[in-house]
Amino acid sequence: MTRNILFVPSKRHYVRGQRPKVDCILCALRRKDPEVESLILAADKLVFITLNLFPYNPGHLMIVPNRHLTDPRQYTAAESKAIERWTNRLLDALDELYEPMGYNIGYNIGASSGASIEHIHLHIVPRFKNEVGFIDVIGGARVHVEDPRTALDLLAKKISGSRASGKRKR
Ligand SMILES: [Zn+2]
Repeated sequence: MTRNILFVPSKRHYVRGQRPKVDCILCALRRKDPEVESLILAADKLVFITLNLFPYNPGHLMIVPNRHLTDPRQYTAAESKAIERWTNRLLDALDELYEPMGYNIGYNIGASSGASIEHIHLHIVPRFKNEVGFIDVIGGARVHVEDPRTALDLLAKKISGSRASGKRKR
């Protein structure tokens, strides 16, 4: 099972001051800027979905509007609809792949909320039973159960072969 694989993400490039030289990391991702490692799972005319490079849990995803917006109240009706549709589809895929106990879904708006990226994005974080036992803080680095690149491969297969059903399996 992938969830037994320990993955320690490296932030050493950031620590050395080698943060990608881009105005906005999410805009850079969207335009496939070579400065930024892409973990994009899917994209359409309005939004794209990316794995979090430094995930809190396996399958930690972000739904991002293509436009550089800073608040969800700036969404057009079409963007809101796209985000809702993708949320349902991704929850189905995550349910099947990881069978989590639940999810945290939400926004950080503004620096004081802990948002490290101004460009608004919706987090989808699967939650697992006993996760405190295998996610820990060691020397300031979080230890994760899975490389997000692995999640990217698994989820890409999953969403290419499924449609959002809206059904709940828990
Ligand atoms: Zn941006």
